[in-house]
Amino acid sequence: MVHMEKSSTDTDMVAPPDRLRLQDVMVRYGDFLALDNINLAIRPGEFVSLLGPSGSGKSTILNVINGAAHPDGGRVFIDGRDVTAVPARERGLGMVFQNYALLPHMNVFDNIAFPLRIRHWPAERIRQAVTDILHRMGLEGFAHRKPRELSGGQQQRVGIARCLVYSPSIILMDEPLGALDKNMREQMQDEIKALHRATGATFVYVTHDQEEALNLSDRICLMNRGRIEQIGTPQEMYFTPVSEFTATFLGESNILAGRLVAENLFRSECGLSIHVVGRPDIPVGSHAKLLVRPEHVMCVAPAADIPNRFACIVENVNFVGGFIRVAVRGQGGGRLQFKTRAHNDYASLQIDSEIHLGWLASDTVLLPA
Ligand code: ADP
Ligand code: MG
Repeated sequence: MVHMEKSSTDTDMVAPPDRLRLQDVMVRYGDFLALDNINLAIRPGEFVSLLGPSGSGKSTILNVINGAAHPDGGRVFIDGRDVTAVPARERGLGMVFQNYALLPHMNVFDNIAFPLRIRHWPAERIRQAVTDILHRMGLEGFAHRKPRELSGGQQQRVGIARCLVYSPSIILMDEPLGALDKNMREQMQDEIKALHRATGATFVYVTHDQEEALNLSDRICLMNRGRIEQIGTPQEMYFTPVSEFTATFLGESNILAGRLVAENLFRSECGLSIHVVGRPDIPVGSHAKLLVRPEHVMCVAPAADIPNRFACIVENVNFVGGFIRVAVRGQGGGRLQFKTRAHNDYASLQIDSEIHLGWLASDTVLLPA
């Protein structure tokens, strides 16, 4: 008999397979392309959000992963195994829905026990598992209530408990907090984060709420009309967006249209010459857009030594919480809306007064036109 043992260098060289991988996935509804060539690899234990406007294909991706939708092209892999033809039930995934999808005639205990009963777990093991998860989700006192006797937040706790009870290694959530009010949403976000840490499971989380995605995710996959617009960490998405779509979807932004006139010089359509950081894929001479985040726009002294400094006349000031919107008229007559961080002294911005706005070249991001 030949005894084979992997040397440690062998195992070191072989990267563990992705927990989940979509390869060239297409989904069509008639003539409509709902998913256009999706390639997405998710590592074990990662928390990835699918973010994007309504109709951009987020739920369709989840459905392709869990087997509820069959792709018209491409493949789905779980732990390196092609599961494209494997029925939903045999994929072993956990799923949490926005509308909770609880069984109304069953009490909380039976709702949570349901996935275990269809897996033919023995009664005592079911009782133990459900009791444990009720405790973990803070639902001990609710075992005998019907879903209609619970608040929205409690119902979603039951929905999450029912998903966690059989310890799936991949958990899919489709806008699970979408029906809850803002405070409850924030509280549940913390709970979902804690569950992610405690279970070590891989999470794929659909939301159209950028704050939720920024708060929860290891990586965000931003969807735009059935395609992946950009995928990256929250910091990458916020600070180095590749497109105007990403820049405006995540966070507040000032966007100027214009042209790159020299390697590090941008000329806006409204006549401003702005020092910028160049980008290899945007050649000098091309039309482009320029992003400056509101928190990087400063109200500066007229003599301030800052390369991008512009005198302008205040036309309007709107206080909208953390930042203010200032409509200004530049020297060339061009009008601009600027968002800038709200300082305590924003009230001193008088209509028709001259102010100087400035920002650093390093705080600009060039975007394709
Ligand atoms: P999201 O979850 O991002 O809001 P979906 O993935 O649900 O978007 O849908 C993407 C697009 O596919 C939408 O335009 C939607 O109308 C369309 N779509 C989804 N499901 C079906 C279906 N069963 N039949 C026809 N069109 C569908
Ligand atoms: Mg959806």
